[in-house]
Amino acid sequence: MSAASSRQLGDLTFPEVPQRLRDTSILCLPIGAIEQHGAHLPLNTDVIVAEELTRRIVARLGDELDLWQLPTIAVSLSREHDWAPGTLSLSVTGFVTLMRDMARHIVRALPARNLAIVNGHGGNRGVLDNLMHELAGDFGLNPCVIHPFDLSKVDTQATTPDVHGGKDETSVMLALAPHLVRREAIAPPATPPDTQAIAALVFDRGVSFPWRTDDPRLTATGAIGEAHAASAELGEAIIASVVGESRGVLRRLLDQRMPKR
Ligand SMILES: [Zn+2]
Repeated sequence: MSAASSRQLGDLTFPEVPQRLRDTSILCLPIGAIEQHGAHLPLNTDVIVAEELTRRIVARLGDELDLWQLPTIAVSLSREHDWAPGTLSLSVTGFVTLMRDMARHIVRALPARNLAIVNGHGGNRGVLDNLMHELAGDFGLNPCVIHPFDLSKVDTQATTPDVHGGKDETSVMLALAPHLVRREAIAPPATPPDTQAIAALVFDRGVSFPWRTDDPRLTATGAIGEAHAASAELGEAIIASVVGESRGVLRRLLDQRMPKR
C-alpha cells in the first residue's frame, strides 16, 4: 500500500488532511479491549478483531464511501474481567472523558463529521449507546456504532450461549491471527454450561446484572461458549458477512446526517 492510496489517518502528512478528507468522509474508529479471553485467546483479542475488521471494511469500501481509519482505542471497559491477570480497564468516567476528548479533537483537526465506531468489546455497548447522543449533540458528529458479532448474519449454529471467547470470537481469531490462538488449550467444557444461569444473568432483557466472568455459575474458564467448535472457515464467513453488511450500515449513516445546528 503506497502512501498515496492509504486510508489510515496516521499515514497522512498534515498538508494532506484537508486535501484528502471532506466533511462527508466517514471516520472509522476501532475500539478494542485488553482483557482475559479464557486460556486459548490473547488479551488483545478485541483489539485485533476491531482493528482488522475495520481494516477490511476500509479496504473494501474505502474508495466507494470515502472511509478513513483512525488509530485504535485499545483499552476500554473491562471490569467484568478484572479478576484475571493482564486485564486492563478504564473507568466509565475515564472512557467517556477519552471519547469526548477524541470527539473534540476530531472536530478541531479533521473536516470529516461522520464517525463509525467499530466496537470489538460487547461491554462497551451500553455506554456507547448513550455517548452517541453527546457526540452528536455536543460536537456535531454523525455517529453510529457497529457491533461486529451482532451485525454478522452468519448462523454459527452454536448450541449453547456464545458470550465471550466462544465459537464466533475464536473462529474470527483463527481467521485473523491463528498464530495467537492456543489450540491446545481449547477443550469441550468438563460439565455442560448452566444455560439457565447464563440466560438469567446475561440475556434477560427485563433486568440487568453486573455479571462477571469469575462467576462459577457462568464459566469455569473465563470463556463462555463453544470454542472447541470454532473454525477458521466460520471466522472468514463471519468477517465476510460483517464487511458486506457494513456497506448498508454506512450508507444509512450518510442518509441520517443531521442538519447543522
Ligand atoms: Zn472479546
